[in-house]
Amino acid sequence: MKYCSKCGNELLDEAVICPKCGCPVVDSEMNVVRDNRKVRLKSASALNAIAFILNILCGVYFAWALFAPSEEPEQTEGFSISVDFSEGAPSILWFWVWVAIVIAIFALGIAIGKIYQKKTNQILPYIYILLSVLNLVVVNLAFPNLLYLVTCIWGIIFFIPNILQILAGVRFLQSSK
Ligand SMILES: [Zn+2]
Repeated sequence: MKYCSKCGNELLDEAVICPKCGCPVVDSEMNVVRDNRKVRLKSASALNAIAFILNILCGVYFAWALFAPSEEPEQTEGFSISVDFSEGAPSILWFWVWVAIVIAIFALGIAIGKIYQKKTNQILPYIYILLSVLNLVVVNLAFPNLLYLVTCIWGIIFFIPNILQILAGVRFLQSSK
C-alpha cells in the first residue's frame, strides 16, 4: 500500500496521481535507489580528491628522494622517513609515468562525477579501477624498494592513495548500477 507524500491519502499501487490532491505520486523506492547512488557518487568523488592530494604529497616526497639523493638521509632515533635506495635503484622514467597516471585517474574521477549527473556508465569505473591497479604496479617499478618499506608500518603510507583510489573506483562502479 502506498500513501501520497503530500496529503497522506491512501493510494492504489498503480496510482500515478493522487486522486485527492492531484499531486504526482513519487515512487519512494526509486527515490531511495537514486539517493543511494548520489551518496556513493559523492563519497567516490571525495575519495578521488583525497587520494589525489595524498598522491601529490607522496609525489613531492618521491621527487625529493629522486632528485636530491645526495644528502644524508635524515635519521631520528628508531624512526626514519627516508627511502633507502639500497634495495633497488629508483627509475625516473617510471616516476613520470606514475605522475601521468595519477593525473589521469584524478581527471577521470572528476569526469565520472560530471557525466554521472546526466547518465551513468559502467565502463568508466572499470577503467578507473584498472588505472588504479596499474598505478600500484608503476609506483613499485619507479621505486623497487617500496615493497620492502611495507615491512615497516609507516611504509604503508605510500600505498594509502592507491587503496583509496581502488575504493573510489568500486564506489563509482556501485553508483553506476
Ligand atoms: Zn495527495
